[in-house]
Amino acid sequence: MPLVADVGSPAAGATDPVRIVFLGGLGEIGRNCMAIEYGTGADRPILLIDCGLMFPDADMHGIDLVLPDFTYLRENAERIIAVVATHGHEDHVGGLQFLLRELSVPIYGSPLALGLARNRIEESGLLGRTELHEVADGERLLIGPFDVEFIPVTHSVPHAHAIALHTPQGVILHSGDFKLDLTPVDGRRTDLARIGELAKTEGIRVLLCDSTNAETPGHAPSETSVGAVLRPLFAESKGRRIITASFASHLHRIQQIADAAIESGRVIATLGMSIRKNVQLGLHLRVLSIPPSKLIDIEAIDQYAPGEVCVISTGSQGEPMSALALLARGENKFVKLSDNDTVILSSHAIPGNEGNVNRVVDGLLRAGARVVHSGVRDVHATGHAQADEIKTYLSIAQPDWMVPVHGEFRHLMANAGLGALMGVPRDRVLVCEDGDVLLVGPDRVEFAGRVPAGYLYVDGIVGDVGQGVLRDRRVLASEGVVVVVVTVDQQTGKVLVGPEIITRGWVYAPEAEDLLDEACDTIAAAVEASLASGVRDVEQLERDVRRAAGRFVSDRTRRRPMIVPVVMEA
Ligand SMILES: [Zn+2]
Ligand SMILES: [Zn+2]
Repeated sequence: MPLVADVGSPAAGATDPVRIVFLGGLGEIGRNCMAIEYGTGADRPILLIDCGLMFPDADMHGIDLVLPDFTYLRENAERIIAVVATHGHEDHVGGLQFLLRELSVPIYGSPLALGLARNRIEESGLLGRTELHEVADGERLLIGPFDVEFIPVTHSVPHAHAIALHTPQGVILHSGDFKLDLTPVDGRRTDLARIGELAKTEGIRVLLCDSTNAETPGHAPSETSVGAVLRPLFAESKGRRIITASFASHLHRIQQIADAAIESGRVIATLGMSIRKNVQLGLHLRVLSIPPSKLIDIEAIDQYAPGEVCVISTGSQGEPMSALALLARGENKFVKLSDNDTVILSSHAIPGNEGNVNRVVDGLLRAGARVVHSGVRDVHATGHAQADEIKTYLSIAQPDWMVPVHGEFRHLMANAGLGALMGVPRDRVLVCEDGDVLLVGPDRVEFAGRVPAGYLYVDGIVGDVGQGVLRDRRVLASEGVVVVVVTVDQQTGKVLVGPEIITRGWVYAPEAEDLLDEACDTIAAAVEASLASGVRDVEQLERDVRRAAGRFVSDRTRRRPMIVPVVMEA
């Protein structure tokens, strides 16, 4: 039967099923991305929710960041109507600058979410490929056939939203990243009243719920509790210079640091590009309030007594090239540390960054500074709901179906447990992973296939470096490399030169001369045997060299370095 596409007519009808395609963030912390589709036609429209990046693990050698697999989006580019950003964190909008290289699509989000995304998109020179549409708290608008409502939530970046999609199959509520902070810095609480209203009227068909802290019992402390710790800390540091580090987008934290600084008679200087840009953005959007007279240039700090200065720096994750890491190594050109400095790390290391953070803390201490971090004082509060908050949320949302999102598998499982505990029937809590497709139909929600959802590795400005490159880098990093060069005479079938062995990272050559001689003899014997049996094909000879060298290396050193055979003919 031929497929007849009804070009130009809206693809969504009143009874159309809805598909949810999970492209990232279900199975890892980061690279959050999902597609929502209406209808069954080949032209069914797609709305993307978030397009984030993930920071690499230590074993992803040389990788700068990891993106969602764009294969599905690339193949269906003409169907993508828009991207909706829940908030401005990198794990939700950091992939947009890469997605926009491949397609041109408008982005909807709060002014701050768009402002944070815009900085990155602008750096990549791609601002011309998108339109940015600002939305207000509680706003509900039609984006193509998609009826999208932006519900305020509290999180560790201001102006975050949950997304309620009013679909032909009922309300799909995407929680966004959220916490239930009853006393947030800006008084803007997660709008539980609206979620309750949706639950009572239309009902919530499917809840996609943040799982990041689902394993942690209890209730997260309020953001304002951090201010209550910072103020006495500033007061007791009288006469000392204070340097703080926090996430550059955490403008509520920066506000509280600024308030404590001003209260203790200090001026404020920002250190690091991202914090400078974000403070400017925050002041412009009136998310931040710092009197201009209290904000000075970092180059002017020496004109003030140490006790009159507070520096707000980037680098709370120990990033090796960040302002704080340079400071810890004595390489920061604006600030030099002394024993009259107190450094406050108002942050928590993201899993994978602990080593870098510890190194920075050690460096700061060696330079004589006093260091306060979240391990010794409560100078940080999480932005994600813990178990009791999720339970409260579930008791209000009362979803028919639940899908845990945003987290490693164990976080998703913990959140699924909370769903069951709060009365969502077990068979209606669906634990999905990246690549899973769900079909929301009139009777049930079910799995409906998979799409590619592997990791897209970014190294420098090169796009995908691929699994193969990464595998090679792992072998090189952990085992080293052995290059074997042999020149053979095609006519006579004799080895003319070599084998010569060049090695890096396998054995220390001067102490292994005997071993290398023995390796050469073994490989030469293998090549000569091969030649004697009539083999002349270079690729076959290289395989023989690899096998002989590999066996010798493994037998004698119990290691598996990368073996690179090079056979030349003369
Ligand atoms: Zn977030
Ligand atoms: Zn997130």
